Amino acid sequence: RAHLDRIAAVDGDVHAFLHVNAAALETAAAIDASRAAGDELGALAGVPIAIKDVLCTLDMPSTSGSKILEGWIPPYDATVVAKLRAAGLVPLGKTNMDEFAMGSSTEFSAYGPTHNPWDLDRIPGGSGGGSAAAVAAFEAPLALGSDTGGSIRQPGAVTGTVGVKPTYGSVSRYGAIALASSLDQVGPVTRTVLDAGLLHDVIKGHDKRDSTSLTDEWPSFADAARAGLAPDSLRGVKVGIVTELNGEGFQAGVKGRFAEAVALLSGAGAEIVELSAPSFEYAISAYYLILPAEASSNLAKFDSVRFGLRVNPEGGGTVEQVMAATREQGFGPEVKRRIILGTYALSAGYYDAYYGSAQKVRTLVQRDFARLFDEVDILISPSAPTTAFPIGEKIDDPLAMYLNDLTTIPANLAGIPGISIPMGLAEEDGLPTGIQLMAPAREDARLYTYGAALE
Ligand code: GLN
Repeated sequence: RAHLDRIAAVDGDVHAFLHVNAAALETAAAIDASRAAGDELGALAGVPIAIKDVLCTLDMPSTSGSKILEGWIPPYDATVVAKLRAAGLVPLGKTNMDEFAMGSSTEFSAYGPTHNPWDLDRIPGGSGGGSAAAVAAFEAPLALGSDTGGSIRQPGAVTGTVGVKPTYGSVSRYGAIALASSLDQVGPVTRTVLDAGLLHDVIKGHDKRDSTSLTDEWPSFADAARAGLAPDSLRGVKVGIVTELNGEGFQAGVKGRFAEAVALLSGAGAEIVELSAPSFEYAISAYYLILPAEASSNLAKFDSVRFGLRVNPEGGGTVEQVMAATREQGFGPEVKRRIILGTYALSAGYYDAYYGSAQKVRTLVQRDFARLFDEVDILISPSAPTTAFPIGEKIDDPLAMYLNDLTTIPANLAGIPGISIPMGLAEEDGLPTGIQLMAPAREDARLYTYGAALE
């Protein structure tokens, strides 16, 4: 009730939600009743949660921020949503996002931008700006996001929340409307590292419906976070600063807070080394070929026949004309840009030059990470190069928009886990900054232990 009241009070300004769950109180009451009946409930039973609109929910519309899916109610729940329900969490509603998760500011939502609760004239990051803003504005204590190139971590950084991109394949993608299938990963958006661990424990694990799902047994991430609170949990930990992820173009206030965080780590007994990953210079370029290539294929299913919108051209038309008119009206400008880029990169004459080269860079990024993790336990960087920028500032400049993801993209290319933790406010503008921790694949527990220690 408190969260629904808060949504009613502030979401007119913040616009974090695309849909509020009318059945939330009923669900909460059912969980109360089950508790009263003596049922054994999980740690998060009864806790409300906001869900990014990229995730399929069978009782609420799931639009992925696009007009082409306006009003579409999926016939099934994403596996992660089913897991939330089974654990007794209460879905509060669906959160705003850049259309099909393409963007870094939530301005590319077909339903209007989300506003950063710290300053309503500024962006909340993207693509998961709705989930991050909902948590930052106390409209929800927890949220789910998806991170293909930073869409959980970068919004976390600019809204002062915690965001985790788990190891690729460790959380099911079934029912997450695909952007780039080799990069997409669902993860927690919270206010503390322990909260993120508790939520990660609910959503993790193998899913036979996702062909890239790992079969590993995972440790308790909540316990990993609690272990970080023990004294001396940072003593002797080897921490690497990646030169390429903390260089030119970073805002002074972000670098200032990062230097402070490094001093804190070292004061707590961590061993700090600076390391170079030369391939990271090409990571954004490679990502912006691989992502559009995969997205152009994934979005081919929006053909006016199977889902959502259908536009009939005046005077009727052939199947192809209906398809073209539907995609013309149903997709926004960033989605069209990426479909064109992706189909071009995949076309016969250019495949080796573009897509092929990008895949080679991806291999080099993976090798650089492997080499770095031979030397250190975790890698750190600022989570984003700047604090939240004003709404409208970068909307007409795709390259400037893409550069926001400089620090987050390498982890997606390599499939490794990353977390963004609030790092204090930048001196010049008083806006939140974030520090990113990265660990080797399958070592998500390290992010929780060292993240909680640093928090
Ligand atoms: N900003 C990135 C992009 O536009 C992030 C996408 C994501 O993580 N979903 O591709």
